[in-house]
Order: sequence, then C-alpha cells, then structure tokens
Amino acid sequence: IVEVSGLRKSFGAHVVLKDLDLSVAPSQVVVVIGPSGSGKSTFLRCLNGLEKAEGGTVKVCGRPVVEGGRMMPEAMLDLLRAEVGMVFQSFNLFPHLTVLDNITLAPTCLRGMSRKAAQQQALQLLEKVGLAHKAKAYPGTLSGGQKQRVAIARALAMEPQVMLFDEPTSALDPELVGEVLQVIRALAAEGMTMIIVTHEMGFAREVADVVVVMDHGSIVEAGPPGAIFTAPQQARTRSFLQTML
Ligand code: ATP
Ligand code: MG
Repeated sequence: IVEVSGLRKSFGAHVVLKDLDLSVAPSQVVVVIGPSGSGKSTFLRCLNGLEKAEGGTVKVCGRPVVEGGRMMPEAMLDLLRAEVGMVFQSFNLFPHLTVLDNITLAPTCLRGMSRKAAQQQALQLLEKVGLAHKAKAYPGTLSGGQKQRVAIARALAMEPQVMLFDEPTSALDPELVGEVLQVIRALAAEGMTMIIVTHEMGFAREVADVVVVMDHGSIVEAGPPGAIFTAPQQARTRSFLQTML
C-alpha cells in the first residue's frame, strides 16, 4: 500500500534522504526510529507530497506521489492526501471551532458528506477515542492528550487507508502519553496501516510489525522489533538504542 524506491531529497546542498526504499503492506504497522535530524519527519512528509522529492519513486494507495524523480501535480496530490491521514506532534486543531466541527469540517467540505452524516460519524469517532463528552468543547479547554485524540479522530473522519504519525506524543506531559498510545494501539488492532515516528521505544516494540532505523538520511536497518531491539546488526543501531535507554 506504500512503495518507496530510491527516494532522494535535499534542502539546498544538504542531502537529507539518500535513496530510501520501503514497502508497507496493508495492515502493517511500521515504526521509524532514529536520532534527531536523521530525516524521519522529512520522510513522512515526502509520502504525502508535503515535501518535494528530487529522486526516486513513491506510490501510496496505488497513487504516484513522485515517479522517477518527477513530482505529481498538486491536484493529484490533493486526492492522495484525502486518503492518507497525518497526525503531528502539535495538534493543529482549529481553535475557533468546537471539537465536533473540527472533525466534520473536512468530510463536509472535501467529500460532500451531509452535515448530519458527518456529525454522526464524528460522534462515533469521539466515542472511539474516549471523548464523546467533549463534542461541544473548544480545543483551548482540552488537555494535550485530549487534543491529540481529537486530532486523530479528525484524521480518521476522512476514512484514510494509511495513517502517518510524526511523534504524536512528544509534546505531551508524561502522564498524558499513555492515553494517546492506547488509541494508536487500538487502531493497530483494527488493522489500520500506519507509519509511526516515535521515541517511545517500549511502544515501538509492542506495536510494530517492522522497525525502521534511520540515521543521516539513510535506512540503517529494518526488521521485526524482536530482531532490532534484541539483536541489532548495525553499530549505528546499537549506539542509537543505547542513547534511548
Ligand atoms: P527530529 O527527531 O528532531 O524530529 P527528524 O529525524 O525528523 O528529526 P528532519 O526534521 O526530517 O529530521 O530533518 C532532517 C534534516 O533536514 C535536518 O538536518 C534538518 O535540519 C533538515 N531540514 C528539515 N527541514 C528543513 C527545511 N525546511 N529547510 C532546510 N533544512 C531542513
Ligand atoms: Mg522530526
């Protein structure tokens, strides 16, 4: 459902992604780990065309994003972005809209869903993330963990085929991390295809089908969490994991 080959991206003279290859099957959970500046966020952003790549091919849900180094036009990328949910470290909720309206906005505006159907769906999603009682609240009155759960519900409202998470818990107070991880865990159990960048190693180990280790713009190694965490093959993986202890 995600196919990346030879992906290359630079900012000026600085090459930040060097010939990345990755293949993600439906329902797979891929967790990307690696030091700060290794290119994890840039990689995720290339998957839905938020960053323009210069080399390689990326296909998501059968749609090309980059093909042989050529970016697809914005109109095509918009169609793709409707199928790929993205959740960032900062929640980016619309502060002047209620929780319910935050969630119904995209389905009503971009997919032409009726207001009533969108509200019904939003309430179901809020139920799922444990926030049905906050439908009428404004984002400013929510905790960080609650905001992030609303952001996840909002992404799910577009019925994405793939969810991308970029450090979804790193802006949260430690006591709020668990409630957000629990929502992601439940999505994994439902078979959602996900690519998750995180520094939560325990969570990575538990939820990942495949762990991808990045360093200096390259994939150093990739494999099942048992192998990566207990028997890493590469010195760079070992030294990164040591810094995370
Ligand atoms: P972190 O763990 O700190 O989030 P990361 O692995 O997500 O790091 P990226 O944010 O992808 O790393 O950055 C990779 C490299 O690209 C870094 O050297 C960064 O300075 C550089 N970079 C990222 N965005 C830009 C930009 N818009 N312009 C120039 N350089 C950038
Ligand atoms: Mg990042």
